[in-house]
Amino acid sequence: MPLSVWMRFFTILLPILALLRKSSNFAPMTRKERYQYILDYFRAKEGHATTELQFGSAFQLLCATLLSAQCTDKRINEVTPELFRRYPTAEAMAAAEPDEVLEYVRSVSYPNAKSRHLVEMARMLVDKFGGKVPDTTEELVKLPGVGRKTANVIQAVWYGKATLAVDTHVYRVSHRLGLVPKEANTPYKVEQYLLKNIPEHDVADAHHWILLHGRYICKSARPMCEKCPFDSFCPKLLENSKLD
Ligand code: SF4
Repeated sequence: MPLSVWMRFFTILLPILALLRKSSNFAPMTRKERYQYILDYFRAKEGHATTELQFGSAFQLLCATLLSAQCTDKRINEVTPELFRRYPTAEAMAAAEPDEVLEYVRSVSYPNAKSRHLVEMARMLVDKFGGKVPDTTEELVKLPGVGRKTANVIQAVWYGKATLAVDTHVYRVSHRLGLVPKEANTPYKVEQYLLKNIPEHDVADAHHWILLHGRYICKSARPMCEKCPFDSFCPKLLENSKLD
């Protein structure tokens, strides 16, 4: 056969072989098996995981977490050293005015609202909780600027409770990996589903495992599937390969 015919034959055949090989590597798993595999992997490879925010007390963790909404941890870690030097405690921040605090957080997202929340939150901590950060969702969400996600972070990271905050990364990765069904279409539903399926002793770590996987590997726009340890069974990747 002439060389040109061979060339054309391989040009057609090679992509087909690549697609077949890609598909044959997939190992469909039940949801239960996926939980088992993923948690075993993270437990062995990552061990204990925690937040990348920097803090020296429960109050500082609360401030940093409040500031981190819709902002990067990196940016928050750039502003908090000066902020905490000036206002190290709830009492110190409660005595400040929002305009003064604003000078320290100008470079984060929504600086006006966040500086106001920081001061109001510190004042309520002093007035209603004796300056101590409470340890229940019910009390934490009463604080200005504190929602369920922030309350869960405080309870997991500072108090070591089995709570799980669902942010944009945890929400996305949980769906892509098929850890939750499509009907789990709110952060609260995802949280409840994950809590039912992750053993209690893994919950606090699992939040950070899944979050960091989303932040560095399973990114929103361009997931780095070639570096992902779950590519052999990821339903999202399988779905994408079917679209190739
Ligand atoms: S294989 Fe890709 S889509 Fe699936 S979890 Fe990994 S990075 Fe995300």
